[in-house]
Amino acid sequence: MKYSKMQDWGIIKVMQILKKEAKNFANPIVTEIGEKTRSPFMVLVSCLLSLRTNDKITGPVSKNLFKIADTPEKINKLPLKKLKKIIKSVNFYITKSKRIKEISKTLLEKYNGKVPGDFDELMKFKGVGRKTANIVMTYGFFKKEYIAVDTHVHRIPNRLGWVKTKNPHQTEEELKKIILKKYWQDINDIFVTFGQNICKPISPHCRECPINQYCKYYKEVYLPKSG
Ligand code: SF4
Repeated sequence: MKYSKMQDWGIIKVMQILKKEAKNFANPIVTEIGEKTRSPFMVLVSCLLSLRTNDKITGPVSKNLFKIADTPEKINKLPLKKLKKIIKSVNFYITKSKRIKEISKTLLEKYNGKVPGDFDELMKFKGVGRKTANIVMTYGFFKKEYIAVDTHVHRIPNRLGWVKTKNPHQTEEELKKIILKKYWQDINDIFVTFGQNICKPISPHCRECPINQYCKYYKEVYLPKSG
């Protein structure tokens, strides 16, 4: 079933094209931090900072913070006021500061100072939803069994016509049914880069899109509109 859908809808081809295309653009910041630091804690914190915040802001803020405090111990010792000041360019910095402090404290008290490599345990932390837990499992622990669905990973497969879903959780479940596991680890990375640069939320660059021949939106919405 999976193989035939992947072939019928050109999923394999699309994944190959986008993987190649992604090399022309900067990596999503959380992936970059995971690859450079191999630290699940830094992936978790940068993912929390990135929520509803552009990578151009999240990147420098994460880097500044990690110069000062890159472990639960150091964040725990950092006064809340100082943490707020360091991360104040990200959206919702007040709530995020509190969450990061709470999570660091819980990690020290209950998890021996280590981020648990377990999806369900991660979901117990206040402020950690499915997307963040999936990101930490995928880019913090390099596990291959997870698909982190954010706004880009939700929007693009819907435009392509691969899924017809109403929310990211549904998209995660549907993508797992139609895409072979060997591609799961790459999905977030590839679609975030593609969504930030080409398949943008508003006014996607359909004309120059390298996968437009495989896209339902292109055939059914873009082409008829552009005459
Ligand atoms: S053709 Fe347009 S909508 Fe379809 S994937 Fe490309 S940019 Fe996105």
